[in-house]
Amino acid sequence: MFSPGEVWNPVNVEIQEKAQWKWKSYLDKGIIESKSGKVFAEYIPYSVDRQNWGIYLHKNEIVKDAVILAKLMKDKNIARAIVAAYVSLVFFHELAHHVIEDLRAPHFKYNEEDESLCEYTAFTLTEAMLKRSPLELGNFGEPNTRQKTAVLVGGISENHFLIGYPLPGYAFKGFMDIIGEVANRVRIVPFFNVKSLDAKKVLSIIYYWRDEAYKPVVPSWVNESEYVSSLSRNLAVGFDDLWSNVESVYSRVSIVS
Ligand SMILES: [Zn+2]
Repeated sequence: MFSPGEVWNPVNVEIQEKAQWKWKSYLDKGIIESKSGKVFAEYIPYSVDRQNWGIYLHKNEIVKDAVILAKLMKDKNIARAIVAAYVSLVFFHELAHHVIEDLRAPHFKYNEEDESLCEYTAFTLTEAMLKRSPLELGNFGEPNTRQKTAVLVGGISENHFLIGYPLPGYAFKGFMDIIGEVANRVRIVPFFNVKSLDAKKVLSIIYYWRDEAYKPVVPSWVNESEYVSSLSRNLAVGFDDLWSNVESVYSRVSIVS
């Protein structure tokens, strides 16, 4: 799954337009920024800034872009799945920067090839989650408040379920805020059920839309077992900090404007 040279390949899809920018990352004062002129997301490494490290998603830019893309979709189910997949891709891309940092700790080193691995990880994990059907984005939170948190429920089998979004065991109100705002603007219900959807097709639409600057491929330097081990530790929400010198990355996710 993560051996050097493996590629996440999109399927052929027709899209009417492409974004007027490329999904590209830059290193600026030790911070990894994914941007298109304006910043979509950032990863601040803990080895660079122990106070402020973590994943930052920039709501305004993500919403603006996801709205344009979702509006291009005639099928409302695809539009719903696109929005959820979009946020998931951005999140897993930044999470992969953290996984790579763990591999190289205690010294932070950045290599532009990391971007290909982050993209490969993001597409692979999001596709795996979207395939666990049926998927439903529900609400979870204090019953008497308007607080809503995204919870994705998927089935492993008839009687076994996955709960969490964008990965089992995790829910964050900030993601629901982004998804809810896009859904409001596009006038779709922010719940989705991708039971009958083709996960690969949904991701391929985003792939072509964003005009990927980096091919989702596992670079040659990757040691598969070391990477999978670091990735697995970081995907084990609730236990991830047991094997780490820093707090859980899931407590370091923020939404900023
Ligand atoms: Zn990146």
